[in-house]
Amino acid sequence: MRRVTFIAGDGIGPEVMAAARAIVEASGAAVEFDEVVAGQRAEREHGTPLPRAVFDSIEANRIALKGPTQTPFGGDYRITIERRDPQAGSAKRTYPSISIALRRELGLFVSVRPIRNYPGIPSRCEKVDLIIFRENSEDLYVGIERMVDEGTAEAIKIISERGTERVTRFALDYMQRLGRRRLTIGHKANVMRMTDGLFLKTAQSVAKARSEILVDQRVVDALCMDLVMRPEEYDCLLLPNLYGDIVSDLAAGLVGGLGVAPGANFGADYATFEAVHGTAPDIAGKDEANPMAAILSGVMMLRYIEESAPADRIERALGEVLKEKRAVTPDLGGSAGTRAMTAAIIEKLKA
Ligand code: NAD
Repeated sequence: MRRVTFIAGDGIGPEVMAAARAIVEASGAAVEFDEVVAGQRAEREHGTPLPRAVFDSIEANRIALKGPTQTPFGGDYRITIERRDPQAGSAKRTYPSISIALRRELGLFVSVRPIRNYPGIPSRCEKVDLIIFRENSEDLYVGIERMVDEGTAEAIKIISERGTERVTRFALDYMQRLGRRRLTIGHKANVMRMTDGLFLKTAQSVAKARSEILVDQRVVDALCMDLVMRPEEYDCLLLPNLYGDIVSDLAAGLVGGLGVAPGANFGADYATFEAVHGTAPDIAGKDEANPMAAILSGVMMLRYIEESAPADRIERALGEVLKEKRAVTPDLGGSAGTRAMTAAIIEKLKA
């Protein structure tokens, strides 16, 4: 049995993650979940949204399936983490959100987001089959901001050669394993000459050594337009943190919305699997959320631990439910709830 840390999260998190968990368990995968609490419930019960127990569990299991966690908008909200550091003793670090704290503390330097059409899901475009590689540790998301004076704020954008080399190599290796052929680097090097300029130059120079993969580049605004007009022409995208965040949601919108976009974060030691979407406070607690992104994040987790037969079974069962359209959530044009859609998938799994 492979132990996997399980975090339900906030908002729709507990609903969609209960679905993902029940479906992974019904698939016959040799997985045992180790549940820990992060987010608002942890804040209420333990006085911190990211208790030590979350790190202890992920450090022991090396893999986590995570639901979305809420970050209050505006103000000076920060997550403070006191970590054991064998070299430096314990130190306090602060981050703008739980997800960023986890990604940075666990060295999860890349998010991988497959975005594709699914049979039966109404979408703006057909033949979309993208993989987005989003650099996870740098860029404006390092969270260094300050008020210069009462009417001026500034943020620091960090791009390093080392960080860019690491994420580019990861993307190329991942593509090679899947037989993917073309990588498009998104950037704004025409304006951000030093930061995005370094990202582009470094990614191009790492990719030059891999003749089997065609590498090109697009300025990110033009890339967004192209993705809306001709998404089928793109294969894999490599983006710095902020553009990767934005383009992931845009791409999800091409194939049916955030409810269908799964994701994973990888580093040298750990991997966490989480949907692209957030806590969706507008539909939380209403049994309306689409569980698909959470379920497919679970499928990515199963493939990562080489439980490919249960992963295939889940994809087949989900595909049948989507094609039949009888038990799908409102965002997919249906009227079923999260629970009914989950039950329909489990029924197919057991058939
Ligand atoms: P969101 O992704 O939560 O919601 C955007 C829109 O998409 C909403 O209309 C929502 O109803 C819809 N949506 C999202 N997931 C859906 C699903 N599974 N089924 C059907 N509809 C779905 O983005 P937001 O509103 O910008 O953010 C809300 C909160 O989530 C914020 O606190 C934000 O910080 C947090 N967030 C967390 C993560 C994470 O933990 N990984 C990621 C993104 C946002």
